[in-house]
Amino acid sequence: MRAIDRRQLGQGLVALSLGVLARPRQLRAAARGRVVIIGGGPGGATVAVMLKRAVPDLTVTLIEPQSHYTSCFYSNHYIGGFLSFDNITNTYAGLTALGIDVVHARATAINAETREVKIEGLPPVAYDRLVVAPGIGIKYDSIEGYGEAASEVMPHAWSGGHQSRLLRERLVAMEDGGLVVIAAPRNPYRCPPGPYERACLIANYLQRDKPRSKVLILDAKMAFSKQAVFEEAFAKYYKDVIELRLTNDLDDMAVARVDPATGEVVTKSGETFKAAVANIIPEQTAGEIALTSGLAEAGGWCPILPESFRSAKVEDVYVVGDATIAADMPKSAFSANSQARAVAGHILADLAGAERPAAAYRNTCWSMLAPDDSVKIGADYAPGDLKGKHALVPSNSFISQTGESAALRKETYEESLAWYRTLTDDIFAKSASARLPNGRRG
Ligand code: FAD
Repeated sequence: MRAIDRRQLGQGLVALSLGVLARPRQLRAAARGRVVIIGGGPGGATVAVMLKRAVPDLTVTLIEPQSHYTSCFYSNHYIGGFLSFDNITNTYAGLTALGIDVVHARATAINAETREVKIEGLPPVAYDRLVVAPGIGIKYDSIEGYGEAASEVMPHAWSGGHQSRLLRERLVAMEDGGLVVIAAPRNPYRCPPGPYERACLIANYLQRDKPRSKVLILDAKMAFSKQAVFEEAFAKYYKDVIELRLTNDLDDMAVARVDPATGEVVTKSGETFKAAVANIIPEQTAGEIALTSGLAEAGGWCPILPESFRSAKVEDVYVVGDATIAADMPKSAFSANSQARAVAGHILADLAGAERPAAAYRNTCWSMLAPDDSVKIGADYAPGDLKGKHALVPSNSFISQTGESAALRKETYEESLAWYRTLTDDIFAKSASARLPNGRRG
């Protein structure tokens, strides 16, 4: 690594922590160092954009196999027919316009000794600091009969793009009167309210297009996020459509076995259901590269230091987003973006040997229940003592209540749409791609 100008990196850090994206000429002139980022979702892409905007001369490489990012967040709106596939698809043009080196390939290994990342089909790339943000891996073997091939017939639709499209296509192709089975996993998993929002938006689609059809949720848990407002919505809008079967002391409703050839879905307590469309959401882990690089614990998720999201296991590596163990902070795009902003500040401080900015994180998860009716849950998080452990401690938490007025729910719905727009503008630097000569937008 060439010498780092600590003063100018420090300036970048201050600009970044204040949310100021100014580019003083001195900053452009001096900063040196190579940051490599694995994964171009809300976690990885945000780190890349924040770093490059704060210190344009920093060498930032983003490794991401997909040329487009179709988000999981708001994929339920697509599956329910409220948004198009294009509406939730983003490009990396904004990152490229900022000068980030976007490499469309898969990272296959991390060598922490030589500080190199191996990339499929390309020479390895060296790093001074590495960010690992690979999202989740699906635990296919947690359900008998399930696997990658079965997921083409019984999609999990818990990773964006192809899987979301499969589920939408199967719903559209289903005959009226069919049973849609949603298998919801045990905690922890990506987007805790996701299966229930999905049930609402699928039910809404069925009411419009296939009114004799039903949705059955087989849940491996006894309770779930925003349960009161979801159950209120099931009763208010989808009384004869959605049936929720939670695990209880007598019945374990976790899906134990599936047969993609017959559509059979069998619970641990032995009940069998014949699905016209099965949406099987298995248990999850951190993305594979985190597992094979020694970043994860036995449970399959990556421990981090709450102050910085530095890996608790491998030096000079940060882990961001769904792959981490972030205490009560939900695995969401909002969380990943918030963590990534802090990580960018920490990397600049780290490289400059400067004081680190105080860590503070935030999350809000919106869920759409029906047109013009959305609810939300959220909190702030900071490092501290949580039940005797040093972790992320929530404060200022809030949650939508049952019985809220239609006007408030509509406001929440509009707020959620505005959030999607501003978040994806931020993650994918769309204002930068808007400046491309051909006018193409990211
Ligand atoms: P990802 O978004 O999964 O990004 C990881 C990236 O890493 C991927 O692009 C992948 O291709 C890449 N990658 C993986 N392995 C490698 C490798 N070896 N080499 C290079 N690249 C690699 N969140 C919200 O905040 N609000 C919502 O309303 C919301 N709704 C949701 C609804 C559903 C149905 C689902 C499933 C999720 C929802 N989420 C929501 C959660 C949100 O999608 C995730 O929390 C978020 O995508 C996590 O970001 P990430 O960057 O950690 O991972």
